[in-house]
Amino acid sequence: MDKSEKFVSTVASFVGLVAKVLPDDVVAKLAELRAAEEVPMAKAVYDCMFENMNLAVKLSRPLCQDTGVIQYFLRVGTHFPLIDELEPLLLKATEIATEKAPLRHNAVETFKEKNTGTNTGKKVPYIEYELVPNSDKLEADVYMAGGGCSLPGRAAVLMPSAGYEGIAKFVADTLVEFGVNACPPLVVGVGVGTCVASSAKLAKRASLRKVGSRNPDPLVARMEEDLENALNGIAIGPQGLSGSASVLCVNIENMARHPSALGVGVAFGCWAHRRGTIVFDADMNYTVLSHKEAAL
Ligand code: SF4
Repeated sequence: MDKSEKFVSTVASFVGLVAKVLPDDVVAKLAELRAAEEVPMAKAVYDCMFENMNLAVKLSRPLCQDTGVIQYFLRVGTHFPLIDELEPLLLKATEIATEKAPLRHNAVETFKEKNTGTNTGKKVPYIEYELVPNSDKLEADVYMAGGGCSLPGRAAVLMPSAGYEGIAKFVADTLVEFGVNACPPLVVGVGVGTCVASSAKLAKRASLRKVGSRNPDPLVARMEEDLENALNGIAIGPQGLSGSASVLCVNIENMARHPSALGVGVAFGCWAHRRGTIVFDADMNYTVLSHKEAAL
């Protein structure tokens, strides 16, 4: 097997794993919420989620019928041997995973409104690159963007006078209005910047950060904590049927902004937050960071 084949086959298997097994941090948080829950209906829903997770592993099937649009967020070393071929290789890996896992066909060509049947299409799988100078490694986040959890995503540019209270209101209003579509408890990624595009991208990045992590800036971390407490106070509960919590986490990513604009984006992930992180070295040996004891 040459390097390209080894890479494609490993990524295809990893995508299959991500469809069937939630990352360790998400499972740990769900277990914590389940243990703390006192509302009988919510307890029953958490029990059902854990039974679902166990059956997905036992039967080797995706843990939700909506296996989403496949998205790759890459931190790629400028000396990584396959840097020039990543797009076709990830496309191939996605096609193989679609057949082998199997994954639902979720790539509909817009305007033609035709499902490609392969989970690939124009700019799908979605790929975002971040270059890492002087490195020959690749670190990739794989994410399955389901329809339900993509639906509530929003971004806007607020008047600067809206302030950080305006950001909090925007996030809370979005969650209250659309959050139940996304199968709570939710991962809430918030981006703060200047324009709609940069804020939405930061929100997505925030939603991919580990559950339980905090932004290193204490001011941002404080807003993460405050928003988390406020949103949990709404008590949407698992699957929106009421309960003690609404969210798995609130993660915020920020950047400097134009003084006259306050951009905010919010991206949601559902309880079945299928995110995985894998690292390749220059020989295509891999380490899975998101799932302990993962064998591909
Ligand atoms: S929101 Fe998540 S758990 Fe709910 S149907 Fe969509 S992918 Fe599945």
